[in-house]
Amino acid sequence: MHTVDEVLEKDRLSRDDMLSMLSLSSGGDIQKLYDAAYRIKRQYVGSKVYFRGLIEFSNICDKNCLYCGIRKDNTGQQRYMMSRDEILDAALWAYDNGYGSIVLQSGERTDPKYIGFVTDVISSISKNTGAKLGITLSLGEQDLRTYERWREAGAHRYLLRIETSNPDLYAKLHPADHSFMRRVQCLRDLKDLGYQLGTGVMIGLPFQTQENLVDDIFFFERMEIDMIGMGPYVIHDDTPLAQAAAECDKQHNFELSLKMIALARIMLRDVNIAATTALQALHPQGREQGLLAGANVIMPIITHKKYRELYQLYNDKPCVNEEAGQCKGCLESRIGSINEVIAYNEWGDPPHYFRRTTGRAMQHP
Ligand code: SAH
Ligand code: SF4
Repeated sequence: MHTVDEVLEKDRLSRDDMLSMLSLSSGGDIQKLYDAAYRIKRQYVGSKVYFRGLIEFSNICDKNCLYCGIRKDNTGQQRYMMSRDEILDAALWAYDNGYGSIVLQSGERTDPKYIGFVTDVISSISKNTGAKLGITLSLGEQDLRTYERWREAGAHRYLLRIETSNPDLYAKLHPADHSFMRRVQCLRDLKDLGYQLGTGVMIGLPFQTQENLVDDIFFFERMEIDMIGMGPYVIHDDTPLAQAAAECDKQHNFELSLKMIALARIMLRDVNIAATTALQALHPQGREQGLLAGANVIMPIITHKKYRELYQLYNDKPCVNEEAGQCKGCLESRIGSINEVIAYNEWGDPPHYFRRTTGRAMQHP
């Protein structure tokens, strides 16, 4: 049996090592894990924090994931769709404020009207910023042609969480017509099209084991993922999973999420890892702690205040009563408090992407 120090000095952790790190319980040992991850972060991606301004442009969704507050069958939810000009305004705010890139996120829709709308939005953001603002999409499962159209219009990164890499657990969290294999195929399509590829999982899900979480990290490695966006599962009261999750321990999920960030950093090294908003939902310093455990990206919400409250994937979403400008000031002081620096006006591409694509990568202009 190795000590924590011995495990953390290894070049590569075994499956058993990873399991033992996830089950650490003494505060001192857990801190050693975070510190080791933080050192690796500094070595491979530096100490800059990259911002991705998150625009949650619509909560209309055709799917029914059992954990999500904006699922189609949640009929109590008022729905909205931002106009092209509102989205463009938010994107230009990000650009003018030195955010290197934005994320366009919404519920999942695959109808031609929506696809055309998104294509037009991407083109106009690209045109109005001279293609200098990085554009990430998080718009769920689409066919290859749609991903291709959006790529041609100017998007270059895509976030599609696998949610869990275990097909049996996936089936417990989704209705029967939501397919794990289709989601994996979408990730492959996105990679073939040259997107920088992001995925992630929810942590602390009902029925999820620590073995599942370790397998998630191996999944990221096997799929050659460039960006990881993972965070705690947080209950939404009006969802079918809320029942099964009644026993959900927030503190435990929070700590487990930080351990997963640290392990992902230690195993995958030069990828980008986001300290997600859901971390902040469970702890007032959630995102800062995520940065100290190995994350290097933050996704400040820049959605207009009037829509923020309507985009509730889970209970207690933070920052719903703030405007983008207030979030910027708040984040600057939070990040300053842990002696990290925000990289303004940079795309902040993960070195991993260039390593895997040498020659055909799209560089920051
Ligand atoms: N519709 C798109 C993007 C919006 S949902 C998609 O599903 O990919 C973005 C992410 O929110 C999902 O991938 C899921 O991981 C996360 N999410 C949804 N409900 C959640 C909950 N209750 N707790 C934590 N994360 C949740
Ligand atoms: Fe829709 Fe995404 Fe929520 Fe699933 S997770 S219900 S696809 S918004």
